[in-house]
Amino acid sequence: MCGIVGIVDAGGVSIQLYYAMYALQHRGQESAGISTFDGISLCKFKGQGLVADVFSLSVLKDLKGTAGIGHVRYPTTGSNLPENIQPLNFQFQDHFISVAHNGNLVNTCELRREYEQAGQIFTTTTDTEIIAKILIEEITASGCVEDAVHLCMKRIQGSYSVVIMIDGVIYAFRDPLGIKPFCLGKIEKGYIVASESVAIDALGGKFLRDVKPGELIRMDSEGVRCTQIAVAGKRAHCIFEYIYFARADAVMDGVLVYDVRRAIGQKLYEEAPVTADSVGSVPDSGTAYAIGYAERSRIPFVESLMKNRYMGRTFIMPTQQARERAVRIKLNPIPGHLKDKSVVLVDDSIVRGTTSKRIIEMMRDAGAREVHMRIGSPAIKAPCYLGVDMPTRKELIASDKAEDEVRRCITATSLHHISLDALVKAIGFDREDLCTGCLTGCYPVPIEGEIVNPRQVDFVDGTFQSKLGSFEAESS
Ligand code: AMP
Repeated sequence: MCGIVGIVDAGGVSIQLYYAMYALQHRGQESAGISTFDGISLCKFKGQGLVADVFSLSVLKDLKGTAGIGHVRYPTTGSNLPENIQPLNFQFQDHFISVAHNGNLVNTCELRREYEQAGQIFTTTTDTEIIAKILIEEITASGCVEDAVHLCMKRIQGSYSVVIMIDGVIYAFRDPLGIKPFCLGKIEKGYIVASESVAIDALGGKFLRDVKPGELIRMDSEGVRCTQIAVAGKRAHCIFEYIYFARADAVMDGVLVYDVRRAIGQKLYEEAPVTADSVGSVPDSGTAYAIGYAERSRIPFVESLMKNRYMGRTFIMPTQQARERAVRIKLNPIPGHLKDKSVVLVDDSIVRGTTSKRIIEMMRDAGAREVHMRIGSPAIKAPCYLGVDMPTRKELIASDKAEDEVRRCITATSLHHISLDALVKAIGFDREDLCTGCLTGCYPVPIEGEIVNPRQVDFVDGTFQSKLGSFEAESS
């Protein structure tokens, strides 16, 4: 759960990076950072908070150069320490390197132990520093970035979209299973790579294509060069990006997220029809689903919860009582739309169940007679190890409960989660090309104590093997 961006632009990059990161703010609100290369060395600035809080115009003016990378962070590994804020910056020999990463490695501990036993030290607790170590080691040895990324892809396991800048040249690569999104765009005087297409839109750029799984893209003032570094037999795009994480207006791996959510909403009605006075959503994440449900059911879409749009997720509360009050500040029920009414309430997912329970309580307090909950994801049964902040099984309300038990816990009149088949159909990929770990407990990479999907990865002696392609350069 992070957002990354890399830009080369003959007119300067800091303002462009700022707007691109603003467009990716939903992917991480805890910290933000930018590194640029001014022709001699790195200019860098990072801090805790939202993009708009961290960067002022005077700071952006000091971030000079025509190449740069940026990161918005939501920590999944590495705690909330200032040194963990990305991009991570390094200097070795006469080179300046900056690295930003979205995803989560599953073999960080082994790799870190190996490096520490060889006498290396680490300054952060992130898996991103491991990626940087591998790259720097190999670049120093061979001087070849393609070789370094090749080696890195062989050694690291997990999800990763990475952008690195070496002396003003930007390299972007995506894991061979394509777990995290990553795309390439053209802007007026250069190129951009970003986690989601919305960052390209924000700069008035043109979306070119997704970065292919296992591909390396090199960008500098001369243009773009693409090299296929590794090829896996299957893909494993994160299904939760479509359910919740990506912006609804993003196009990811060729699919408009809004359309997926709207189609799921329609299917939710077909799978679990109900007679009600209105259909409403938990804004904003449930809205596209609710619109689909209203369309198919012909029940009017009426907002019954208003969101305070000035309250971000950074509004962290120290006590349960304060957190419950916070839900009330964030979402306010409209009694005039609820009193004595039977309503369908649509949301994207139930994770711990605390939000749904509190919202239904508020709606009943506002006079709702019946609250029929419809959910755009199947029940979340297992944790995510690949970059989405999904807690342990113990904290997931549906991990050991049947749907009706969950319904009782959240006090809904009725509850239905979309079927996995319908969700996969709405996304439009082969089921084997999606990571469904959080829904099925079956993962596309080996994770200790968990089941791996053997059709997504090839195994040799229990080790993850991506089929390595030759270094065929294609230009675009
Ligand atoms: P809860 O069931 O209380 O954990 O809240 C679930 C709601 O939080 C969902 O409806 C989503 O809108 C949102 N959500 C889903 N996954 C996450 C996540 N990993 N981190 C933060 N919010 C999430």
